[in-house]
Amino acid sequence: MKNRKLLMIPGPVEFTPDVLQAMGSPTTSHVAQIFIDAFGEALANLRKVFLAPSGQPFIVAGSGTLAMDMVAANLIEPNDSVLVVNTGYFSDRFAKIFERYGAHVTHLHGKSPGDAPTLEEVESALKSVRPAFLSITHVDTSTGVSVDVKSLAALGRQYDTFVLVDGVCSLAGEEVRQEEWGIDAVLTASQKAIGVPPGLALAVAGPRAMQKFKNRATPVGNFYADWNEWLPIMEAYEARKPSYFGTPAVNLVWALRVSLQEILGEGMEPRFARHRRLSRAFRAGIDALGLKQVPTRAELTATTLSAIYYPEGVDATLLKAIDEEGVLVAGGLHPAIKTKYFRVGHMGSVSASDIMATLAAIESGLARCGYKSEPGIAVAAAQKSLSIEETR
Ligand SMILES: *Cc1c(COP(=O)(O)O)cnc(C)c1O
Repeated sequence: MKNRKLLMIPGPVEFTPDVLQAMGSPTTSHVAQIFIDAFGEALANLRKVFLAPSGQPFIVAGSGTLAMDMVAANLIEPNDSVLVVNTGYFSDRFAKIFERYGAHVTHLHGKSPGDAPTLEEVESALKSVRPAFLSITHVDTSTGVSVDVKSLAALGRQYDTFVLVDGVCSLAGEEVRQEEWGIDAVLTASQKAIGVPPGLALAVAGPRAMQKFKNRATPVGNFYADWNEWLPIMEAYEARKPSYFGTPAVNLVWALRVSLQEILGEGMEPRFARHRRLSRAFRAGIDALGLKQVPTRAELTATTLSAIYYPEGVDATLLKAIDEEGVLVAGGLHPAIKTKYFRVGHMGSVSASDIMATLAAIESGLARCGYKSEPGIAVAAAQKSLSIEETR
């Protein structure tokens, strides 16, 4: 019997065999020419994956929170004002980081967890607050809410703000176009849709953001995250020259190189389309089971994860029941509704068979918890969704 569970949480996710093989290869020196070449290639490919042809990429050892910290530390100066489009736990986290660097933060919430402010509400807040920065969590992993970054970024630019996007749970899964959409800085982490084990903070800053950083009146208040140290390192790797500030996570960079090749091999548009198609099938299965989702409107549902309320009479023991069916899903995270829902990640190398296996496990798990549904109903609905798509 295979003693392996399918990992369907919102990061880390399932990784491809080639990525894992790169992780397990003998570690090279961080100044070996073959490693310099791999790092340089990863930087250039990161630009393509972020759709950021004129952007400056950063690859630094750390989690997604470091990527948030790095963007804030280098761009925010004391007394800058930030408008936070707040859709949950990670929007709150970004706000706390901005405040740590002396920013004045204004939060704009939706009506309840799972909701998001409307474009009209964001516009009127931009008019009254006149912030220097607009902060957007593309997909808030605590609620499964995805906001319309394209329209929000356009509004932000219209009101002359710098637009910062936390793309940790979207980038390389849900569509993000850094340059075309006018995003000034966008960040992610390796373990989500990028498809590499945890440990890399990834960010791209556009030319306006780099100019803002270079024009700072105050020093960067963080030693490890300071772009004054990292920019020359990134430039050296891209010029295929050795350099050192902090030792890079060598094996993770080797794995990132492989994953970025795989992502570009699939193509960004087909990759976005695969995430849309599979999330639609997953949701069809969840709907067929009669379960309700946390996002309050259909257009707010993310393609990279789903946040689903437990049905009447079922609680978090469902997680263990699903685990016993061979699939790992995650519990709630948003403090206001934490015990009422669970989360399923479907991003990165996720396939139709992963979706089917997960729905089957949820269905059986629910049955173990006493919830009644027609056997096979979720998988059938997902199959149907996939087949309609395929014949189109
Ligand atoms: C996961 C996540 C983070 C935090 O990333 P870590 O790697 O856990 O530090 C931040 N923002 C969003 C939207 C996330 O999904």
